[in-house]
Amino acid sequence: MKASEIRSTFLSFFEGKGHTVVSSSPVIPGDDPTLLFTNAGMNQFKDVFLGFDKRPYMRAATAQKCIRAGGKHNDLENVGYTARHHTFFEMLGNFSFGDYFKRDALAFAWELLTEVYKLPKERLWATVYAEDDEAYDIWKDVIGLPAERIVRIGDNKGARYASDNFWMMGDTGPCGPCSEIFYDHGPDVAGGPPGSPEQDGDRYIEIWNNVFMQFNRQLDDKGAYQMHPLPKPSVDTGMGLERLTAVLQHVHSNYEIDLFVTLLAAAKKAVDESGAKDCDAASPSLKVIADHIRACAFTVADGVIPGNEGRGYVLRRITRRAIRHGYKLGARQPFFHRLVVDLAAEMGDAYPELRREKQRVMDVLKQEEERFFQTIATGMEILERALAELGAPGATDAAGVRAAEQATDAIGSSAKVRTLSGELAFQLHDTYGFPLDLTADVCRERGVAVDTDAFEAAMKRQREQARAAGKFKVAQGLDYTGGDTSFHGYDKLVHDAATVVALYVDGS
Ligand code: ATP
Ligand code: MG
Ligand code: MG
Ligand code: MG
Repeated sequence: MKASEIRSTFLSFFEGKGHTVVSSSPVIPGDDPTLLFTNAGMNQFKDVFLGFDKRPYMRAATAQKCIRAGGKHNDLENVGYTARHHTFFEMLGNFSFGDYFKRDALAFAWELLTEVYKLPKERLWATVYAEDDEAYDIWKDVIGLPAERIVRIGDNKGARYASDNFWMMGDTGPCGPCSEIFYDHGPDVAGGPPGSPEQDGDRYIEIWNNVFMQFNRQLDDKGAYQMHPLPKPSVDTGMGLERLTAVLQHVHSNYEIDLFVTLLAAAKKAVDESGAKDCDAASPSLKVIADHIRACAFTVADGVIPGNEGRGYVLRRITRRAIRHGYKLGARQPFFHRLVVDLAAEMGDAYPELRREKQRVMDVLKQEEERFFQTIATGMEILERALAELGAPGATDAAGVRAAEQATDAIGSSAKVRTLSGELAFQLHDTYGFPLDLTADVCRERGVAVDTDAFEAAMKRQREQARAAGKFKVAQGLDYTGGDTSFHGYDKLVHDAATVVALYVDGS
């Protein structure tokens, strides 16, 4: 079954169960400034669940465009390195607005998975919230799932949002326990069952989350949170289309499904034709590029343009991350925008905005690419000079490769390695827009470490100066806007620096 058939099968199954099929909302939430991007199918129904909005239906089903590359759900750094995380993905969901509840929701899910998609029952696992005996009993007694494959998951002590199996929209408001369905990809994939310490592998994959909105969490007059049962409990579910497709196409990674095979081939071709000649087809960098073109194209199609704050900033970061990975493979001129053609051919039937906006999306991305390649060229010149001064071996030198290996081994030990100054790395970032992760990549290939402590110190200094300047302006009564936005930017970049150090050390 192709991904497109899997999507339409889901929607028609729920239509047959009395659900109204509703179109995906844009990736930019219409009236929710608290949310950077749409990150779940329920977003467009938030007010319906809260009782502020009424719809002519009580059951709905959607295939929703989602982006998780910022904010509370941020999977950006995982992408390319796990088999199951994307920045952009489609969430298939069915919703009950005060209509059916746990029993029907779980029975629908089981029927669809085992009778329509025909997944082998013995590969399916379910988790329930530790105290949710009702859901546990439905799995065991109504559906007949063996107790060994039903896992109770309790509160995550100390976490702001209680646990993986208790969903809350925020500190107050509707909330309730979840039941997640996992698929076991089998013993040739590493990872442990849900709830076990080894769960964080790709063997047991969470495919479907069922959220039972059962309580309204409110503060009482003594300042303590109380759970009040909702008069009309609701259901909100979400299943990742790409993960389900991997299962149904008998592959262990989302990147091996039909859609991604096409995008990966297109990415390789575009990168090769832009200077790489014959890059490694198995490189995680190609996965990053194939993933990121979806997030970037859909975001631009829905109206965002790259910029320095908010959504535009996230878009710019994702675009540049893709370009950086292309550069790493050998691309020396714009390649990324070309993938919009392949993406529109693959997904344009389901999402006509991709066809309609194709040319504009390509133009926006191409312009960003041209700029960033220019940035890279300027930054590389400065970096090359610094590397030469350090006596680092040349880029294509065999000695360089050996030195790089030695340097990687030496990081974390007390052995001396050539080190690029953090001040220079900061100047590259701050003055030339040349990102730290690119500096670190290039240096690593040349056997040179980067003084990231000094980089972070410089970053912190600059942030304090910016803050002081902001306060000064406020104190003078001048109009001061935009300060917050730049602070967020720096926070993100500082976080990036930490990630780079981690990547640098473990070599991934
Ligand atoms: P995970 O624990 O794997 O990160 P999650 O618990 O954060 O997933 P939910 O918020 O429950 O995910 O979202 C519902 C479903 O959407 C998941 O069961 C999964 O199938 C899919 N999904 C979530 N995040 C991603 C992602 N980054 N890429 C692809 N699919 C995703
Ligand atoms: Mg997650
Ligand atoms: Mg999860
Ligand atoms: Mg989940």
